[in-house]
Amino acid sequence: MVEIPEAKTIVRQAKEVLIGRIVEDIQVMNSSNRFCWMNKEKSEIENLIIGKKIIEIKQSGHYVRFLFSNGTEIACAEDIIYRYILHSELTEKNQLVLIFDNGYDLEIKVKLYGFILIGELDELLSTNKYFKFAYDSIDILSHDFTYEHFKNVTLFHHQKGSLKQALATEQHIPGLGNGILHDILFEAMLLPFKKISTVSDKDYHLLYQAVIKKVDEMSLFDGRDLQSDLFGEKGKYETIMNSSRKTCPICHHDIIQKSYLGGKVIYCEVCQK
Ligand SMILES: [Zn+2]
Repeated sequence: MVEIPEAKTIVRQAKEVLIGRIVEDIQVMNSSNRFCWMNKEKSEIENLIIGKKIIEIKQSGHYVRFLFSNGTEIACAEDIIYRYILHSELTEKNQLVLIFDNGYDLEIKVKLYGFILIGELDELLSTNKYFKFAYDSIDILSHDFTYEHFKNVTLFHHQKGSLKQALATEQHIPGLGNGILHDILFEAMLLPFKKISTVSDKDYHLLYQAVIKKVDEMSLFDGRDLQSDLFGEKGKYETIMNSSRKTCPICHHDIIQKSYLGGKVIYCEVCQK
Protein backbone atom coordinates (compact mmCIF):
# COMPACT_ATOMS: atom_id res chain seq x y z
CA MET A 1 0.00 0.00 0.00
CA VAL A 2 1.34 3.42 -0.92
CA GLU A 3 1.20 5.63 2.17
CA ILE A 4 2.63 9.12 2.68
CA PRO A 5 6.37 8.18 2.65
CA GLU A 6 6.03 6.08 -0.50
CA ALA A 7 3.94 8.75 -2.26
CA LYS A 8 6.64 11.31 -1.45
CA THR A 9 9.30 8.97 -2.82
CA ILE A 10 7.45 8.29 -6.08
CA VAL A 11 6.84 12.03 -6.58
CA ARG A 12 10.48 12.91 -5.89
CA GLN A 13 11.71 10.30 -8.36
CA ALA A 14 9.04 11.02 -11.00
CA LYS A 15 9.96 14.72 -10.97
CA GLU A 16 13.48 13.80 -12.04
CA VAL A 17 12.43 11.81 -15.10
CA LEU A 18 8.93 12.89 -16.15
CA ILE A 19 8.68 16.68 -15.96
CA GLY A 20 8.60 18.06 -19.51
CA ARG A 21 7.86 14.65 -21.08
CA ILE A 22 5.13 14.44 -23.71
CA VAL A 23 2.76 11.47 -23.76
CA GLU A 24 2.82 9.90 -27.23
CA ASP A 25 0.33 7.14 -26.57
CA ILE A 26 -1.49 5.39 -23.75
CA GLN A 27 -2.73 1.91 -22.90
CA VAL A 28 -5.73 1.37 -20.65
CA MET A 29 -6.75 -1.76 -18.72
CA ASN A 30 -4.34 -4.22 -20.31
CA SER A 31 -5.35 -6.37 -17.37
CA SER A 32 -8.85 -6.04 -15.96
CA ASN A 33 -9.16 -5.45 -12.23
CA ARG A 34 -12.59 -4.84 -10.74
CA PHE A 35 -11.01 -3.20 -7.73
CA CYS A 36 -9.38 -0.56 -9.91
CA TRP A 37 -11.61 2.49 -9.83
CA MET A 38 -11.00 4.51 -12.98
CA ASN A 39 -13.38 7.38 -13.62
CA LYS A 40 -13.12 7.60 -17.41
CA GLU A 41 -13.27 5.45 -20.54
CA LYS A 42 -10.23 4.86 -22.72
CA SER A 43 -11.34 7.24 -25.51
CA GLU A 44 -11.87 10.09 -23.04
CA ILE A 45 -8.46 9.51 -21.47
CA GLU A 46 -6.82 9.47 -24.91
CA ASN A 47 -8.40 12.83 -25.75
CA LEU A 48 -7.22 14.36 -22.49
CA ILE A 49 -3.68 12.96 -22.27
CA ILE A 50 -2.16 12.12 -25.66
CA GLY A 51 0.10 14.88 -26.95
CA LYS A 52 0.13 16.62 -23.56
CA LYS A 53 3.18 17.49 -21.51
CA ILE A 54 3.68 16.68 -17.82
CA ILE A 55 4.37 20.03 -16.17
CA GLU A 56 4.28 19.12 -12.47
CA ILE A 57 4.04 16.13 -10.13
CA LYS A 58 2.61 16.55 -6.66
CA GLN A 59 1.79 14.53 -3.55
CA SER A 60 -1.38 15.08 -1.57
CA GLY A 61 -1.59 12.63 1.34
CA HIS A 62 -1.14 9.22 -0.27
CA TYR A 63 -2.14 10.48 -3.74
CA VAL A 64 0.46 10.85 -6.49
CA ARG A 65 -0.68 13.50 -8.99
CA PHE A 66 0.65 13.97 -12.53
CA LEU A 67 -0.33 17.43 -13.83
CA PHE A 68 -0.52 18.10 -17.57
CA SER A 69 -0.16 21.21 -19.71
CA ASN A 70 -3.90 21.31 -20.52
CA GLY A 71 -5.08 21.41 -16.89
CA THR A 72 -5.81 17.69 -16.70
CA GLU A 73 -4.29 15.55 -13.99
CA ILE A 74 -3.96 11.86 -13.24
CA ALA A 75 -4.30 11.20 -9.51
CA CYS A 76 -3.65 7.71 -8.14
CA ALA A 77 -3.77 6.17 -4.66
CA GLU A 78 -3.91 3.05 -2.49
CA ASP A 79 -2.31 -0.28 -3.50
CA ILE A 80 -0.49 0.84 -6.62
CA ILE A 81 2.85 0.05 -8.21
CA TYR A 82 4.38 2.82 -10.33
CA ARG A 83 7.23 1.86 -12.63
CA TYR A 84 9.33 3.91 -15.03
CA ILE A 85 10.60 1.37 -17.53
CA LEU A 86 11.91 0.95 -21.05
CA HIS A 87 9.06 0.41 -23.49
CA SER A 88 10.58 -2.98 -24.35
CA GLU A 89 10.10 -4.07 -20.69
CA LEU A 90 6.41 -3.28 -20.61
CA THR A 91 4.13 -6.08 -19.39
CA GLU A 92 0.44 -6.69 -19.97
CA LYS A 93 -0.30 -6.63 -16.25
CA ASN A 94 -1.29 -3.02 -15.78
CA GLN A 95 -4.26 -0.70 -15.77
CA LEU A 96 -2.70 2.44 -17.27
CA VAL A 97 0.46 3.03 -19.31
CA LEU A 98 1.78 6.40 -20.44
CA ILE A 99 4.15 6.01 -23.38
CA PHE A 100 6.65 8.86 -23.72
CA ASP A 101 8.73 10.24 -26.53
CA ASN A 102 12.04 8.95 -25.12
CA GLY A 103 11.46 5.19 -25.29
CA TYR A 104 10.30 4.96 -21.68
CA ASP A 105 6.87 4.30 -20.19
CA LEU A 106 5.15 4.96 -16.89
CA GLU A 107 3.36 1.76 -15.96
CA ILE A 108 0.63 1.97 -13.30
CA LYS A 109 -0.57 -1.29 -11.76
CA VAL A 110 -3.30 -1.70 -9.18
CA LYS A 111 -2.61 -4.64 -6.84
CA LEU A 112 -5.39 -5.24 -4.30
CA TYR A 113 -7.36 -2.09 -5.00
CA GLY A 114 -6.78 1.49 -6.04
CA PHE A 115 -7.98 4.69 -7.63
CA ILE A 116 -6.83 6.05 -10.99
CA LEU A 117 -8.62 9.35 -11.46
CA ILE A 118 -8.32 11.50 -14.56
CA GLY A 119 -9.71 15.00 -15.02
CA GLU A 120 -9.38 18.62 -13.99
CA LEU A 121 -8.79 19.34 -10.31
CA ASP A 122 -12.25 20.81 -9.66
CA GLU A 123 -13.91 17.80 -11.22
CA LEU A 124 -11.88 15.33 -9.16
CA LEU A 125 -12.48 17.28 -5.94
CA SER A 126 -16.24 17.36 -6.51
CA THR A 127 -16.60 13.73 -7.56
CA ASN A 128 -14.27 11.83 -5.23
CA LYS A 129 -14.46 12.51 -1.51
CA TYR A 130 -11.35 10.48 -0.69
CA PHE A 131 -9.29 12.52 -3.12
CA LYS A 132 -10.73 15.67 -1.57
CA PHE A 133 -9.80 14.49 1.94
CA ALA A 134 -6.23 13.92 0.75
CA TYR A 135 -6.07 17.19 -1.19
CA ASP A 136 -7.35 19.20 1.79
CA SER A 137 -5.05 17.51 4.31
CA ILE A 138 -2.07 19.32 5.77
CA ASP A 139 1.23 17.63 5.00
CA ILE A 140 2.73 16.00 8.10
CA LEU A 141 6.17 17.38 7.26
CA SER A 142 4.98 20.96 6.80
CA HIS A 143 5.09 23.70 9.47
CA ASP A 144 1.30 23.84 9.44
CA PHE A 145 1.05 20.34 10.88
CA THR A 146 1.00 21.65 14.44
CA TYR A 147 0.18 19.79 17.63
CA GLU A 148 -3.18 21.61 17.78
CA HIS A 149 -3.96 20.47 14.23
CA PHE A 150 -2.94 16.90 15.08
CA LYS A 151 -5.26 16.89 18.09
CA ASN A 152 -8.13 18.28 16.00
CA VAL A 153 -7.90 15.85 13.08
CA THR A 154 -7.47 12.82 15.35
CA LEU A 155 -10.41 13.97 17.53
CA PHE A 156 -8.36 13.91 20.74
CA HIS A 157 -10.91 16.14 22.47
CA HIS A 158 -13.67 13.54 21.89
CA GLN A 159 -11.83 11.17 24.24
CA LYS A 160 -13.46 8.21 22.48
CA GLY A 161 -12.02 5.10 20.89
CA SER A 162 -8.47 3.79 20.61
CA LEU A 163 -5.21 5.13 19.23
CA LYS A 164 -5.51 3.08 16.04
CA GLN A 165 -8.98 4.53 15.52
CA ALA A 166 -7.68 8.06 16.06
CA LEU A 167 -4.67 7.78 13.78
CA ALA A 168 -5.40 5.34 11.01
CA THR A 169 -9.14 5.17 10.37
CA GLU A 170 -11.74 7.30 8.59
CA GLN A 171 -9.14 9.36 6.70
CA HIS A 172 -8.27 11.37 9.81
CA ILE A 173 -4.79 11.68 8.31
CA PRO A 174 -5.01 10.58 4.64
CA GLY A 175 -2.03 8.40 3.85
CA LEU A 176 -1.36 7.37 7.45
CA GLY A 177 -2.68 3.82 7.28
CA ASN A 178 -2.10 0.40 8.71
CA GLY A 179 1.28 0.20 6.98
CA ILE A 180 3.14 2.95 8.81
CA LEU A 181 0.99 2.96 11.97
CA HIS A 182 2.83 0.16 13.80
CA ASP A 183 6.26 1.78 13.67
CA ILE A 184 4.77 5.10 14.80
CA LEU A 185 3.11 3.48 17.82
CA PHE A 186 6.28 1.51 18.59
CA GLU A 187 8.28 4.75 18.46
CA ALA A 188 5.80 6.34 20.87
CA MET A 189 5.74 3.14 23.00
CA LEU A 190 1.95 3.09 22.93
CA LEU A 191 -0.44 0.22 22.20
CA PRO A 192 -2.82 0.40 19.19
CA PHE A 193 -5.90 -0.34 21.29
CA LYS A 194 -5.04 2.00 24.15
CA LYS A 195 -8.07 4.17 24.86
CA ILE A 196 -7.56 7.83 24.08
CA SER A 197 -9.27 8.72 27.35
CA THR A 198 -6.32 7.11 29.18
CA VAL A 199 -3.59 8.98 27.23
CA SER A 200 -2.17 12.09 28.86
CA ASP A 201 -1.63 15.29 26.91
CA LYS A 202 2.13 14.74 27.38
CA ASP A 203 1.98 11.23 25.86
CA TYR A 204 -0.21 12.50 23.03
CA HIS A 205 2.43 15.11 22.32
CA LEU A 206 5.05 12.34 22.17
CA LEU A 207 2.79 10.51 19.74
CA TYR A 208 2.56 13.64 17.58
CA GLN A 209 6.35 13.84 17.53
CA ALA A 210 6.57 10.13 16.66
CA VAL A 211 4.24 10.65 13.68
CA ILE A 212 6.46 13.39 12.26
CA LYS A 213 9.70 11.58 13.05
CA LYS A 214 8.69 8.28 11.44
CA VAL A 215 7.13 9.84 8.31
CA ASP A 216 10.25 11.98 7.91
CA GLU A 217 12.57 8.99 8.37
CA MET A 218 10.59 6.72 6.04
CA SER A 219 10.47 9.44 3.37
CA LEU A 220 14.18 10.18 3.70
CA PHE A 221 14.96 6.50 3.09
CA ASP A 222 12.75 6.28 -0.03
CA GLY A 223 9.84 4.53 1.67
CA ARG A 224 9.46 1.26 3.55
CA ASP A 225 11.35 -1.87 2.48
CA LEU A 226 7.98 -3.53 1.84
CA GLN A 227 7.23 -1.27 -1.14
CA SER A 228 8.89 -0.72 -4.51
CA ASP A 229 9.87 2.68 -5.83
CA LEU A 230 9.54 4.09 -9.36
CA PHE A 231 12.64 2.24 -10.52
CA GLY A 232 11.66 -1.13 -9.04
CA GLU A 233 13.94 -0.85 -5.99
CA LYS A 234 12.67 -1.63 -2.51
CA GLY A 235 12.49 1.31 -0.10
CA LYS A 236 15.48 1.59 2.23
CA TYR A 237 13.56 2.22 5.45
CA GLU A 238 13.77 -1.01 7.43
CA THR A 239 10.25 -1.57 8.74
CA ILE A 240 10.45 -2.51 12.42
CA MET A 241 6.97 -3.91 13.00
CA ASN A 242 6.43 -6.07 9.92
CA SER A 243 4.61 -9.38 9.74
CA SER A 244 7.80 -11.44 9.45
CA ARG A 245 9.39 -10.05 12.62
CA LYS A 246 9.30 -12.53 15.48
CA THR A 247 10.87 -10.68 18.38
CA CYS A 248 11.07 -7.10 19.62
CA PRO A 249 14.35 -5.37 18.66
CA ILE A 250 14.47 -3.71 22.11
CA CYS A 251 13.35 -6.27 24.72
CA HIS A 252 13.49 -9.45 22.56
CA HIS A 253 10.09 -10.65 23.70
CA ASP A 254 7.77 -12.16 21.09
CA ILE A 255 6.03 -9.69 18.81
CA ILE A 256 2.25 -9.99 18.79
CA GLN A 257 0.15 -9.82 15.64
CA LYS A 258 -3.60 -9.83 15.71
CA SER A 259 -6.59 -8.51 13.79
CA TYR A 260 -7.97 -5.25 15.06
CA LEU A 261 -10.22 -2.68 13.35
CA GLY A 262 -9.79 -3.86 9.77
CA GLY A 263 -6.25 -5.15 9.36
CA LYS A 264 -3.54 -6.52 11.54
CA VAL A 265 -1.83 -4.74 14.40
CA ILE A 266 1.77 -5.65 15.23
CA TYR A 267 3.22 -4.64 18.58
CA CYS A 268 5.34 -5.51 21.61
CA GLU A 269 3.24 -5.82 24.72
CA VAL A 270 6.28 -5.36 26.94
CA CYS A 271 7.60 -2.10 25.47
CA GLN A 272 4.31 -0.53 24.43
CA LYS A 273 1.91 0.56 27.15
ZN1 LIG B 1 9.70 -4.90 23.33
